[in-house]
Amino acid sequence: MSFLYIVATPIGNLEDISFRALRILKEVDFILAEDTRKTLKLLNFYNIRKPLVSYFQHSKLAKVEYILNLLNQGKNLALVSDAGTPGINDPGGKLIEEVVKNFGDKAQIVPIPGPNAAIAALSISGFNTDRFLFLGYPPHKKGRKKVFDEISKSRYPVVIYESVHRITKTLNELSGFENIKDRKVVVARELTKKFETIYRGGISEIAPQIEKEKLGEFVLIINK
Ligand code: SAM
Repeated sequence: MSFLYIVATPIGNLEDISFRALRILKEVDFILAEDTRKTLKLLNFYNIRKPLVSYFQHSKLAKVEYILNLLNQGKNLALVSDAGTPGINDPGGKLIEEVVKNFGDKAQIVPIPGPNAAIAALSISGFNTDRFLFLGYPPHKKGRKKVFDEISKSRYPVVIYESVHRITKTLNELSGFENIKDRKVVVARELTKKFETIYRGGISEIAPQIEKEKLGEFVLIINK
């Protein structure tokens, strides 16, 4: 039986990693990484030397087969993404799907929990987060309106991911919805990093402040 560990890694601050995650990264035969340069930064910080195999969104079928083959040979693997929990809005999800499909009971998939940007943002939101709706990145074109309709109808706070290039556009579009324009939002920028900033308020108050931000990663929470 081989093991595929799904290892959560920091979303910024390199100290945000569990003892167990570090032990697993030291023990496995290979680490599957979304961006090997980013993962090397983490591994160097903890003095971990391990062969890396790159795995990204558009990895060819041959790469997936190569990874499945490693499991077949009894190798133990750790999957990490650029940040946070692999499989949550990053390429890991596809690989895990393939392993479940092709390996069934031949490989054990083990979660090594840790950071996740959505959960970190929810934890400081001050909203009632007993229930929430996570929608990942809103589509750029097709399906965008449908997602915004879903946000407007949600009975729970809605969490979305956005890039610096699109956060202002998204806030401005959301403020055009009668049902959304007066809601409270939290925008969490650069969580756990040097320039971490939390914006709280109405969408129209927040949007002009965010417009000034030229860099960063963002989680947006729209209260119900
Ligand atoms: N798997 C990751 C997780 O567990 O959160 C998410 C990966 S997704 C490709 C990257 C997006 O997550 C970014 O565009 C941003 O919306 C959000 N994100 C990741 N790190 C963040 C941070 N430090 N602060 C704010 N948002 C972050």
